[in-house]
Amino acid sequence: MSWYRKLHWQILIGLFAGLIYGVIAAANGWSQFTENWIAPFGTIFINSLQLIAVPLVLASLVTGVASLSDLKKLSRIGGKTIAIYLATTAIAVTTGLVIVNVMRPGHQIPEEVRAGLQEAYASDATAGEAAAAEARERGPLQILVDLVPDNFFNAASSNRNMLQVVFVALFLGVGLIQVPAKTAKPLLEAFEGLTAVVIRLVDLIMLIAPLGVFSLIANTITTVAGDDLGRVLELVGALGSYSLAVVLGLAVHMGVTYVALLKLFTPMKIRTFYEGIAPAQLVAFSTSSSGATLPVTMERCEEKLGISEEVSSFVLPLGATVNMDGTALYQAVAAVFISQALGMGLDLGQQLTIVLTATVASIGTAAVPGAGVIMLVIILESIGVPIAGIALILGVDRILDMLRTVTNITGDAVVATMVAASENQLRKPELSEKSDRIRVTR
Ligand code: ASP
Repeated sequence: MSWYRKLHWQILIGLFAGLIYGVIAAANGWSQFTENWIAPFGTIFINSLQLIAVPLVLASLVTGVASLSDLKKLSRIGGKTIAIYLATTAIAVTTGLVIVNVMRPGHQIPEEVRAGLQEAYASDATAGEAAAAEARERGPLQILVDLVPDNFFNAASSNRNMLQVVFVALFLGVGLIQVPAKTAKPLLEAFEGLTAVVIRLVDLIMLIAPLGVFSLIANTITTVAGDDLGRVLELVGALGSYSLAVVLGLAVHMGVTYVALLKLFTPMKIRTFYEGIAPAQLVAFSTSSSGATLPVTMERCEEKLGISEEVSSFVLPLGATVNMDGTALYQAVAAVFISQALGMGLDLGQQLTIVLTATVASIGTAAVPGAGVIMLVIILESIGVPIAGIALILGVDRILDMLRTVTNITGDAVVATMVAASENQLRKPELSEKSDRIRVTR
């Protein structure tokens, strides 16, 4: 098959075309035109992914759990998954801390730039503060309370409630194991059918992925730049070393930590892994949302990496909401950068506090664009750094959000591969050229 017929190349072409168009549009003041005529295709793409996320998680998880004949296996997989999620996140935070402490980007920011940024983003920072105050006022066990919905339809009505949907699916799956096989059969078959159909729908939606990605990227650039591209370039210049620290951290985590984990704990070839997961990474990059990317991540893991549905349907939806290595790493770098820029040194105790709070904060971060910066407030508070300092980093946040979301979903796929390998549930990946073609017909 020619290279340009492969999905990840098509999306990449869409992405670059969007980038070039976005820059030209921002330079020529076409942001209104872009918003009216280009952006809607991106919205349709994200909406259609979100539309199938809840049915996919519900149906595949119910089927996955019900096929585990004993509950012991479920708790073993669950325990393993959560332990690896926490460990990889802690490694990510530590990587970020080492890099930001060595590079010291906060010390390089000139006084007048700092004052300018603080003034420009003061009101945005206050808005973030209010959202974080709400998060802070919740009791320590609220996270458990939030897990259990009082009404299934409410839970299923918002993609922000994915953990509740996971809970309902687990609950339902456990119920299905408990009743006689004959009674469970019709419902189980219905869920199996729904899973198969939704996975096929992902294939269909991916047909418009290149166009969706084009319009998402174009619109992001014109929205961030307004009609003044120079301002963005100025910002990127001023916050260049901070952005570089985040990007370097993410690159080390993806290129060293994940590679090492895959090599040590799985038989998966690194190239097969990254080629298989590439379309999901590109969708994550352009949507900045792990939640919206979830259907694509699941489809790629099952069909291209050979991870069993039993493992992927449990590990990935959970990971999309609780495992955010990229976000945690970014939060750690941002917290130290802000404290450096404000001239406050952080001792070892405060840095360890960052490891702990960033790990927890990333769990509580919603899988939607810009959520990471809201939880950053909690980290800043825990180390006594003024929250208004967030204004310093807001200018480049959207760009970094795209990159950290890529890391977030890659981390989920790495852990799913590790869990599947340890449970003997990793088929030989089918990354043949033929199987990479999008199937529209049977
Ligand atoms: N956008 C990120 C995600 O969905 C969360 C964040 O860091 O803002 O994974």
